[in-house]
Amino acid sequence: MMKVLLVLLLNLPLMAQDNILVLLGLDESHLVSVDTHRLSAQTAQAFANMQAAAATDGIDLQLLSAFRSFERQQQIFEEKFRRYRAEGLSPTQAIDRILQYSTIPGTSRHHWGTDIDITDGNAPKQKHVLVPSKFHNDGPFVPLHQWMQANAYRFGFYLVYTRDSKRTGFAYEPWHYTYLPEAKEYLAQYTPRMAFAYFKAVGVKGGAYIDRDFWDAYYTQFVLGVNSELIK
Ligand SMILES: [Zn+2]
Repeated sequence: MMKVLLVLLLNLPLMAQDNILVLLGLDESHLVSVDTHRLSAQTAQAFANMQAAAATDGIDLQLLSAFRSFERQQQIFEEKFRRYRAEGLSPTQAIDRILQYSTIPGTSRHHWGTDIDITDGNAPKQKHVLVPSKFHNDGPFVPLHQWMQANAYRFGFYLVYTRDSKRTGFAYEPWHYTYLPEAKEYLAQYTPRMAFAYFKAVGVKGGAYIDRDFWDAYYTQFVLGVNSELIK
């Protein structure tokens, strides 16, 4: 059904169809299970290798988040839109607020099965893990961060939302890594036109306030607002 809709909507050449479904979080056929999460088979293998190496250095690499479908991202977006509207924000204010921490469905790198949010199972238990300061100074995730900075690239993994004042888009996320050999291909194939067309066709709540100009600016600032190593 989704595939038929997309093909009709975008008038796509046959060969382009499969990756477009992956890019939008609509295809799960390339995924394998890793604990309670899912990753592309290639990314899962690279992660397993990295996890084994980290373990020998006393770091227990654990996934907090991996693949996320379009549908799941839509639920997150719509739930936040409803909540912020109920708190009295205008529709555009609500969307700006959502974009502090969440993506527009169809634009998340977690749709691809190549991106992971990680923690260290050997660190003291934390109620909140996704706090940048906990990865620096004397924070509980300093050993994890230092190990990843020194070693992740050997396994193909890179930070996406770096601490770089020249970078635009999402805030610094020291827990979010991407498997570059695969993700690089996906980012190169990603076009804002197709994602926008699908987003509009689905009818996401709040989506009426996102027009083509907004989408294009978001694409430049957020989707392309990543570690410069990722878009070379
Ligand atoms: Zn993430």
